[in-house]
Amino acid sequence: MPISPSLITEFKNLLGAQNVLTEETDRLSYAYDAAVLKQVTPGLVVLPTNEEQLGKTVKLAYENSLPITVRGSGTNLSGAVIPESSETLVILTNKLNKILEINEEDLYAVVEPGVLTAKFAATVAAKGLFYPPDPGSQTVSTLAGNVALNAGGLRGLKYGVTKDYLMGIEFFDPNGDLIKTGSRTVKCVTGYNIGGMMISSEGTLGIFSKIILKLVPPPKASQAMMAVYDSVQAASETVAAIIAAHILPCTLEFLDQKCIQVVEANAKIGLPTEAAAILLVEVDGSHQAGVDEDAAKVKEIFTKCGSTDIRVAKDAEEKNKIWEARRAALPSLARAKPTTVLEDATVPRSKIPQMVSELNRIAEKYKLEMGTFGHAGDGNLHPTILTDRRNEQEFKRVEEAVDEIFDVAIKLQGTLSGEHGIGIAKAKWMEKETNKATIEFSRRLRLALDPKYLFNAGKKIL
Ligand SMILES: Cc1cc2nc3c(=O)[nH]c(=O)nc-3n(C[C@H](O)[C@H](O)[C@H](O)COP(=O)(O)OP(=O)(O)OC[C@H]3O[C@@H](n4cnc5c(N)ncnc54)[C@H](O)[C@@H]3O)c2cc1C
Repeated sequence: MPISPSLITEFKNLLGAQNVLTEETDRLSYAYDAAVLKQVTPGLVVLPTNEEQLGKTVKLAYENSLPITVRGSGTNLSGAVIPESSETLVILTNKLNKILEINEEDLYAVVEPGVLTAKFAATVAAKGLFYPPDPGSQTVSTLAGNVALNAGGLRGLKYGVTKDYLMGIEFFDPNGDLIKTGSRTVKCVTGYNIGGMMISSEGTLGIFSKIILKLVPPPKASQAMMAVYDSVQAASETVAAIIAAHILPCTLEFLDQKCIQVVEANAKIGLPTEAAAILLVEVDGSHQAGVDEDAAKVKEIFTKCGSTDIRVAKDAEEKNKIWEARRAALPSLARAKPTTVLEDATVPRSKIPQMVSELNRIAEKYKLEMGTFGHAGDGNLHPTILTDRRNEQEFKRVEEAVDEIFDVAIKLQGTLSGEHGIGIAKAKWMEKETNKATIEFSRRLRLALDPKYLFNAGKKIL
């Protein structure tokens, strides 16, 4: 059923006609996100410009039983902002994009939900502070999207992920009431840890209006390196060996041959295209001497595990080239074929060598072109299948391969998703990793907070 003209008028009265998108050509832009899934055009798209409008929008929509999907930049890879139906109201946070406070004495910042991650990180960096979570999408992703999916990034191994920086959050419940949790203090045990529940809630438990984030002092020294391998197994064993030696690089990334070749073809940065795999590693810290010591230990492990070439960045330009190789991985793979299916299954770090060999076996079994890269130090690999959705036979094999990737990850005591979220894409596998009672418990929790099941329906917990 289309959204009634009188309700649309109420939204226009509340938000101004310019902030209510009714035309199909405008609404079409919000029918999809970065996942390869069926598009659904929402019934209405609105852009609140302040917190009060956001609360009233939620209340008006809920009273009128409209399904509500709140959307940041739509870069998620799990279908987390694809509307459930043509009745869905999409709330955009683009105009809620103010950094409200950066507190240099107490090391925190308060932001609106639509602030872009990289813009925030650059603003705090200009004040000599550091916000470490750096998802590959950081130039376009929003901080609320990061919280709602617990986004990770290249620095996750040492610095953690978004949840490690969430000090407090304010959000609207279905009545449009503002709920406040956490604080500006380092410690806070007032009430339940509701902020913890909002992390990775995927728009299903509340609509965030304000976020308090922890800031830290930046590292003063760092060293970036690349190690080249002629065997994938040797590269993955190096990852496990670095972790087992209790060295904690800030970044430890893996690229297999397919990724090396497509990145080199696109970015021309001098990567060894004959190599079976490369590892990109950065160690950092407060003192150059400590960094040098860690770098030396890492180089020793590279050699011991069979690296055929080790390149150490001598200056900022060389360091930037090393990281360009990683940043270019997904965009380069995405250009290689019409459809890119990027997965996110994650395993305990010691199981990386097994996971890598299983991924290669699966690609061969289903006769698929697959490149694997990712946050190897976190056990979080991104096997990426290059395909064409229009080729039905091949796409069926892709779906079977993805099923098997999840089976293997769970068998290795891993998880369906390290950072990309469940959304629509992985909801059907949830019970496999957990159990029926866990799904029912989560469903009861969700319905207690959202009795009409209108907040991002069809995602995460069905
Ligand atoms: C090229 C590329 C690289 C990527 N690299 C990484 C990476 O390294 N690490 C990583 O973790 N992810 C990565 N991602 C995935 C994605 O960018 C992140 O998950 C990011 O956090 C999504 O932010 P967004 O603003 O685009 O959110 P959206 O996609 O718009 O939304 C994501 C979720 O947040 C919810 N949400 C948004 N705003 C609110 C709000 N105000 N209140 C409540 N819920 C809200 C939505 O409902 C949805 O469930 C990558 C994606 C791409 C395309």
